[in-house]
Formats: sequence, C-alpha cells, structure tokens
Amino acid sequence: MGPPGAGKGTQAKRLVEKFGMVHLSSGDIFRAEKASGSDLGRKLAEYMSAGELVPDGIVVEMMAKAITTADSQAGLMLDGFPRTVPQAEALDAQLAEAGKPLNGVVVITCDDQAIVARITGRRSCPRCGKVYHVEFLKPQVEGRCDDCDGVELAQRADDKEEVVRERLSAYYAQTEPVITYYRDRGEVKVVEVDGNGAPDQVTAKLVQAVAGLG
Ligand code: AMP
Repeated sequence: MGPPGAGKGTQAKRLVEKFGMVHLSSGDIFRAEKASGSDLGRKLAEYMSAGELVPDGIVVEMMAKAITTADSQAGLMLDGFPRTVPQAEALDAQLAEAGKPLNGVVVITCDDQAIVARITGRRSCPRCGKVYHVEFLKPQVEGRCDDCDGVELAQRADDKEEVVRERLSAYYAQTEPVITYYRDRGEVKVVEVDGNGAPDQVTAKLVQAVAGLG
C-alpha cells in the first residue's frame, strides 16, 4: 500500500522477481481491460482518467476473479488493492473462505511534493509495463524500453498533474483508513517503509520487510 507514486508498481515488480510470488496490480488489470476496448473497460476509463476510485462493486468482482484464477502457490503480491475499507472486508472474506492467510501489509510512505515530481516524470513500457522516470530512473536509450527491443515509452493518461492531485486526495480520504483497519484488527503485521530514497535503497529496505513477514 501507499500513495500514488510511492513506488508500489516499480517495487512490487522487483520483489516478485526476488521472492517468486505472483504480482497482481489492480491498476494494471484495469488498464488491460481498458485496452481491450470492452464496455467495462470504457467504464473503468471514466473513473481512472478523472483520478477517482473505481466503485467497490466493480473492483471487488474483478479482483476476486483475478485472485481465484492466479497461480498462487508461491503467494500473491497484491498491489493497489484493497484501496477502501469495503474492499479490505471483501478480501478478508474471500481469503477466509479459501483458507488462505494474509501474511502482512507493507506500506510505502512518500512526501507529497516528491509524489507529484515522480508521477509527472513517470513513463512506462506499453508492452511489458516496466516503469521508468525521465530523471530518476532513466532507460539506457532515452524514451525506449530496455527490455522490449526499443518499444517507445508512454505516459499514463492519469499521470497529468491535475489528475495526480485528485488521486492523492482519494488516497487520503479512502485508502489511508485501510491501514488503520488492518492496524486495529491486530492480527495482520503492518510494516511501514520510507519510500523517499533512491529506488535501489527502497528495494533493499522492502526486501528485508517482506522477508520478515514469513
Ligand atoms: P494505479 O495503477 O494503482 O495507480 O491505479 C490507477 C487507477 O485505477 C486509480 O487511480 C483508480 O482510478 C483505479 N484503481 C486501481 N486500483 C483500484 C482499487 N483497488 N479501487 C478503486 N480504484 C482503483
């Protein structure tokens, strides 16, 4: 968990490489649905391009399906879900029914001014999803993916500054209470990692935090 731009997507990709679990990013799943051109994808795009959260009913249904169909033997790394308390309750119910534990919640913290600079400079590969930054995490060749034969990097439609501000306020209003929800429950380990440093430093701290969750 963590605000938009804290590094969830970048770091989750690195952590699954290290630990071997499956990465399930709600944002990536929604962007794939949008790219498919379906009616559902068009509906999702309306919320996403405004920086608003997608309604819980849609999110819970799509994520429940993704969790059920994922090959979860080595575990799942959920990124961007749950983002509201009702979503967290639905996830708890699904895991309880499947007899699967939630090992922990990792929160990446980041200052607001760093967030805006990070998100507006963020670029990603439309083919593999790898995330770069025009200043802080440059590809080897400007504007091209290191891993995908020079595919041109793109900016997400919701990474424009005015949309970022909306996404930040949605985070504070609707998603921060989820951290309190897990803390209050007491059964789930909640660890906080400072995400303000350079990406490699943050990865090193996260590897320790995730290893500690067992
Ligand atoms: P992300 O890639 O995680 O930044 O997500 C991009 C956008 O997808 C968000 O700004 C929301 O509009 C939508 N979204 C992703 N995950 C969720 C979620 N769990 N609940 C509601 N909306 C979501």
